[in-house]
Amino acid sequence: MKLLILEDSKALAKIIAMKISRSLELDVDIARSLEEAKQFTEKNHYLIALIDLYLPDAEGDEVVDYFVEKGIPSIVMTASIDKELQKNISKKNIIDYVLKDRTESLDYMIAIVNRVLKNKRHTVLIVDDSQVYRTQIKKTLTTQLINTITAKDGEEALEIMNSNYDVTLLITDYHMPKVDGLELTIALRKKYKKDRFPIIGTSTDEESSIRFLKYGVNDFIQKPFFKEELSTRVNNTLDALENVQKLHDFANTDFLTQVSNRKHFYYDMGIYYEKAVKENTTFALAMIDIDFFKNVNDTYGHDVGDDVIKLLAKTIKENIKGQDIVARFGGEEFCVVLKDIPAQAAEKFFEMLREKVAAMHITVDEERQISFTISIGVVTDYHDSLEEMVIESDKHLYQAKNNGRNRVCSQEKCALA
Ligand code: GH3
Ligand code: MG
Ligand code: MG
Repeated sequence: MKLLILEDSKALAKIIAMKISRSLELDVDIARSLEEAKQFTEKNHYLIALIDLYLPDAEGDEVVDYFVEKGIPSIVMTASIDKELQKNISKKNIIDYVLKDRTESLDYMIAIVNRVLKNKRHTVLIVDDSQVYRTQIKKTLTTQLINTITAKDGEEALEIMNSNYDVTLLITDYHMPKVDGLELTIALRKKYKKDRFPIIGTSTDEESSIRFLKYGVNDFIQKPFFKEELSTRVNNTLDALENVQKLHDFANTDFLTQVSNRKHFYYDMGIYYEKAVKENTTFALAMIDIDFFKNVNDTYGHDVGDDVIKLLAKTIKENIKGQDIVARFGGEEFCVVLKDIPAQAAEKFFEMLREKVAAMHITVDEERQISFTISIGVVTDYHDSLEEMVIESDKHLYQAKNNGRNRVCSQEKCALA
């Protein structure tokens, strides 16, 4: 992914390039004149361009229009801006413009680049009976690199929401035929929570905003609006959505190993368990515990102990399939669920995992290497509840420990290592 900086001040270009490469994974090219920028853009594909308005060989409209025509989403940088220029620039199809009047402007610019890069993961459903507004909103969001889908009324929007599109944000007009914006919001709020699926309401009449906000939209934009207001509000809403996602991930993930924690395991697995029982799908649940782990801590210290736990988590993750579940239950204890798998195949898998772990080494220092083993308790038939299954797998784990460790025990057998 490449970014072009068009800036005739060598020092400033360098600072921007440095700041960008420090916080984002982007290749940066620097052009000092429009002519040079043209040569660059002939040869490379740029995701974003940061462009100065005053260059040795061109200025103002000529510079911006070149990038707009090329279809390169751009952020315009300018040292000063008067009302006339602001009006002129606002009309152009650019991501944003930034005043180079203070050092904080650079941070603002980096934040926008960051936001726009993340926007590629989002799809906005634009619901409006006015073709003009649908087109205008779509165009503005496309410049921000957001994916868009459009619907001409609430009914069509509901159909899209029920299909397979991965919509992350919805923008809806109020007055529309068939199903209006308020009814659409009320219908969607029965299914999607406000902090996980944002809705932005729009309308020409001011009063709609109150009704909209009371029934669960996250924000309101009154028509007609400047496209800058639209893009800023959409970007802010996406920031908030991602922050909630981050908090959610943080609350569900074990800090040391980055696998699910016990609480999230019961939530995630609870859903699958119900479904599997109903549909009669076979799956396996296993409790895995490191053997004599206290010795590792006592001999090599807690940090090395942590490394051993991390290595085991990594090994489990690398060997299970994407649909399977792994969670850290306690200190050096993990619970693993293999979905849609016959009992025999599951037991074979855990035997393979046990052998693999026993063959691994961790280097402590030049002279010392540690190897370790695990014991596994597996359950493959349904019990009365998920909790019962976990208790049962724990019993098999203790059997494995009592029989000498480094082995897999299930209801069928307790294989000798
Ligand atoms: P067994 O074979 O019976 O499982 O023996 P063990 O020594 O592994 O058993 P035990 O469960 O008594 O020991 C677990 C130890 O794990 C005790 C605790 O200090 C340590 N521990 C728990 N959490 C962590 C952690 O996050 N990091 C490290 N390094 N050690 C931890
Ligand atoms: Mg242990
Ligand atoms: Mg233990």
